Amino acid sequence: MSPDAKPTDYSAARIHETVQQILTAGLLPTIVQAGHPVLRQLAAPFDGQLNDAELGQLIDLMRSVMHKAPGVGLAAPQLGIPLQIAVLEDQFDVDPEVAAARGREPLPFFAMLNPSFAPQGASAVAFYEGCLSVNGLQAAVVRPEAVGLDFTAPDGSAQQREFSGWQARIVQHETDHLHGILYLDRAELRSISNNAEYSARWSQPDISLAREELGFLPGA
Ligand code: ZN
Repeated sequence: MSPDAKPTDYSAARIHETVQQILTAGLLPTIVQAGHPVLRQLAAPFDGQLNDAELGQLIDLMRSVMHKAPGVGLAAPQLGIPLQIAVLEDQFDVDPEVAAARGREPLPFFAMLNPSFAPQGASAVAFYEGCLSVNGLQAAVVRPEAVGLDFTAPDGSAQQREFSGWQARIVQHETDHLHGILYLDRAELRSISNNAEYSARWSQPDISLAREELGFLPGA
């Protein structure tokens, strides 16, 4: 966990102003990188800081940014907005062997507000992951294999869903963003790999070769 994530000091008015600036800029916003303070704040729970139209426009914009990146999730703090909103979608074509090893199944688009998750069962799995706010790196992260997620849908309804495999990994990664946590906080530090090194050496379906050669998770 990240014990140092303090609640954002942005007022509701400043959050609204930040969103308005992004919505009216007329171009896709830049994804902020590690070191930006908003990535380390506990984002404000959504409680009406935006009206329905603004919320819808922000979610549409976040989806466009996620597609362009490209990525499978984007949290509002990654646009410098300390508000508990994230979008998720995984429709990429993945090698069948990789998909099977990682439990990666397509995730239809959805947006979540004020999410929290709890592990289901004791099973944990380790795979490499990356982050659009940590350019250039990949690292292995041990995460619960399945989670239950509570969140609010954009229409205001309370939702409970269960996720496993890669979907559960995406859900945890994005929820962490809203709580000021980056995946590196949970990563095996000896696994950290430059993107080019990862692609050249460690992109097998599982992490067993990387674990052995880089020396992480020795007892796993
Ligand atoms: Zn991320």
